[in-house]
Amino acid sequence: MADIREYPRNKEGSNISKIAVDRDLCISAVSCIAVAAETWELDDENKIVVTDADSVDDDTLMESAKACPTKAIFLYDTEGNQVWPV
Ligand code: SF4
Repeated sequence: MADIREYPRNKEGSNISKIAVDRDLCISAVSCIAVAAETWELDDENKIVVTDADSVDDDTLMESAKACPTKAIFLYDTEGNQVWPV
């Protein structure tokens, strides 16, 4: 079973209300961190974790998720619909 961790996002004015990461897909490429260093870090297993889900605006968060070569990052809107990957 996939090892997915979910992180709620409560940023004011944001249309993205949840971030999820599939740890099995994360290959530690750190492309996501290159785009949004405030949002992510690698844990001691070299897998991505969210340190601050509210740190960046929606565009930067989306760009960060799109930068992931394995599509390990999932974003959901305020109604629970998956908006990335689509
Ligand atoms: S870009 Fe993707 S594979 Fe690389 S660290 Fe981030 S989530 Fe993991």
